[in-house]
Amino acid sequence: MDADRKRKEEYKDNINMARYIGPVCKLCRREGLKLFLKGQRCLIDKCSFNDRKNPPGPVPKRKPKVSGYGAQLREKQKVKRIYGVLEKPFRNYFKKAQKMKGITGENLLMLLERRLDNTLYRMGIASSRAHARNIISHGHILVNNKQVNVASYQVKINDEISLNKKMNASEAIEANIELAQGVGLIADWIELAVDGKSGKIKELPRRENVDIPIREQVIVELYSK
Ligand code: SF4
Repeated sequence: MDADRKRKEEYKDNINMARYIGPVCKLCRREGLKLFLKGQRCLIDKCSFNDRKNPPGPVPKRKPKVSGYGAQLREKQKVKRIYGVLEKPFRNYFKKAQKMKGITGENLLMLLERRLDNTLYRMGIASSRAHARNIISHGHILVNNKQVNVASYQVKINDEISLNKKMNASEAIEANIELAQGVGLIADWIELAVDGKSGKIKELPRRENVDIPIREQVIVELYSK
């Protein structure tokens, strides 16, 4: 594929992501997978993906063929949508992953997993990563007792994540924690306090901690062209 087409695809991709305000459940159908974008609804029977799994748009008469490039693009879109990251930062994560020791694809996933918004979601405090970004940007999150309002903050071992006073008293947060703990959403690499409202990073996430079916090697192939 020539560089021009690649650039155009990326531009289109970025614009679509940045402006996407449509129904998020459609994105799950597009990727053929539950992406958990809608908070509590994703964890209960109301998830529409259970009844409707076909991709959005008219039903094709024949199953469309997917090219190698198409499959790579879909995989990248899927990961970007799960973590809510746009093209440019996603590419920056990839560059950083390439410079790290180990397998690039796994490094990429680990960098995404270590984002503060993902950490809050994996603690059960936020009902989705989008919800986590919202509470972070409003200054409700403390890391080592200091306010952090950057969702892309990379958590480190021994970081202590907690809520400010206002959020600590929130019944909605309590309900999120209870539901997340009930369905086993809490990550093993986080040590939660008894009330679940704060936690400590006891180790960095590993590949086996990401339980979503992702073929990260395909993304590496796409960016290595
Ligand atoms: Fe996807 Fe189901 Fe959540 Fe909708 S409710 S975003 S279909 S997982």
